[in-house]
Amino acid sequence: MTGTANGGEIRFSGLAVSPGFAHGVLRVLERGEAPVPVHAIGPEQVAHEAQRFERAIERTKAELLRIKDGVARNLGEGDANIFEAHLLLLEDATIVAATLKQLETKRLNIEAVYSHVIGRYVDVLGALEDPYLRERAADVRDVARRVLQNLAGAEGGLGVSITEPCILVAHDLAPSDTAQLPTDKVLGFVTCIGSMTSHTAIMARALAIPAIVGIEAPLHDIKALEQSVAVLDGYTGQLVINPTEATLAASGAAESRHAHVAQDLVRLRDTRATTTDGRAIVLSANLGRMEDLPDVAECGAEGVGLFRTEFLFADRDDFPSEEEQCQMYCRVADAVKPHHVILRTLDLGGDKLLPGTHVSTETNPFLGMRAIRFCLAHPEILRTQLRAMLRAAAHAGGHVKIMYPMVSRVQEVRQANAILAEERARLEAGGLQIPAIEVGCMIEVPSAALTAETLATEVKFFSIGTNDLIQYTIAIDRGNEELAHLYDPTHPGILRLIEHVINAAHQAGIWVGLCGEMAGEFTIAPLLVGMGIDELSTGPAQVPRIKRAIQCVSHAEMKVIADSLLNLHSGEEIRGRLDALARERVPELFD
Ligand code: PEP
Ligand code: MG
Repeated sequence: MTGTANGGEIRFSGLAVSPGFAHGVLRVLERGEAPVPVHAIGPEQVAHEAQRFERAIERTKAELLRIKDGVARNLGEGDANIFEAHLLLLEDATIVAATLKQLETKRLNIEAVYSHVIGRYVDVLGALEDPYLRERAADVRDVARRVLQNLAGAEGGLGVSITEPCILVAHDLAPSDTAQLPTDKVLGFVTCIGSMTSHTAIMARALAIPAIVGIEAPLHDIKALEQSVAVLDGYTGQLVINPTEATLAASGAAESRHAHVAQDLVRLRDTRATTTDGRAIVLSANLGRMEDLPDVAECGAEGVGLFRTEFLFADRDDFPSEEEQCQMYCRVADAVKPHHVILRTLDLGGDKLLPGTHVSTETNPFLGMRAIRFCLAHPEILRTQLRAMLRAAAHAGGHVKIMYPMVSRVQEVRQANAILAEERARLEAGGLQIPAIEVGCMIEVPSAALTAETLATEVKFFSIGTNDLIQYTIAIDRGNEELAHLYDPTHPGILRLIEHVINAAHQAGIWVGLCGEMAGEFTIAPLLVGMGIDELSTGPAQVPRIKRAIQCVSHAEMKVIADSLLNLHSGEEIRGRLDALARERVPELFD
């Protein structure tokens, strides 16, 4: 037994991936994979096997579309996108071509060759270092399981009927299984493997089923405890089997506390981040991976204030083509309508390596060939990306904005804008109609902050990247744990730079946002509002809290508070005052 026992109760801990509490009996889902039949075929059977494959793919496609439509109806288009990815995997040209080729060369039945091809994909994905890409192996397996079931003539499904309320435990759950769980019966679920970024975890959050993954106990350990009563805590990742009275009382109290705050925050989803005296701040979300796109609408953000496009280039040996990029940008723009998406041009360099590169050769990469510097030194890469962005803007209308990262001198903006204008002209000469696009730059280097007046003549907006602005201003590596206590967003030097940038922007008649992690601190956001920020962009998980914090202050009072705090000389003191204010206005957020 891997769990820890105490007074009759047995505890397992894993990753809390979907918040909430569940209290009920354990039901273990043991689903043995059906053995794949393997037999030789004659040359005359090849065409027949290929047809069986085609029919199985068609049936699987129909099944996945059914699940996707169901999810879209019940949860919305965003969550249904997971099955869009499954549909793409199902018809993946490389997998299909490799299977048909092996059918010819190996002369084995279609189940055997298809499983072989899938097995190789799963092995390659499973061996990757990136946990996110490793999780995609589960998606490939899920799709393949359905195809194999259809080849065997059976409909895909969960394989057991769940008729009584329970906490479901499985070795793993495929996203399509999770989507089909009877939510009135499954109070919560636990899997032995999995991570935060698995689609199963994303589905669990979307379905609001409390869930823990990766408890790292073999399923048969839990099987021995089936039908025992258990409590699942989706906040801390604890599964307690045979809970004592004291555990039950403690989890009951925690549950009502969380429920209260959560209900309150969910109610904010369709509201705006408006202060009590009516100043509305645009509160948008940062996005790094296409898979997180559904979270943007779900958290109640107004579009995407920072799309870190370089993550689309990570873990690849090549740069995505213009077409590939264009499709992704269009998908984001379509998903966030009527709000906007700010597409940031590549911010490679620093700790973000170039495709196909494993280490940087620079002595000091954060002060090296990074972001706009890299792009201007490799104009073809920038041109391709800008063309993809312009085409996405043509597709989506005025909802696409473009932003340059790590600008340190005005010439960089001018050069990039000139390239943008050339690419626009070329596309327009080819007949494409491109709307006016707002182009902005990030302010994340002290020289940019201090010359904001000049930069403001070249762009339509600024977005302050405090993650880098803090590191470059206080001279602290943003990733150095030992110096983390000195990495202080409320350092008076940082606040004065931000104030300068906001004033310069407004004097030039342009808007200014802030998209560093600082935007996600609910104690600090009201100060930024008082300083005059127009937009904040932060991780989707932080959006509801920030909205709440902004809705509980007035712009007029925060302006007065900001003026007085900016006269203080100690970051600790500024933070202390902001904490005290937040404790008074939004005490529930401190829980
Ligand atoms: C920043 O520096 O604040 C920022 C948002 O950019 P990144 O974190 O991607 O460097
Ligand atoms: Mg940055």
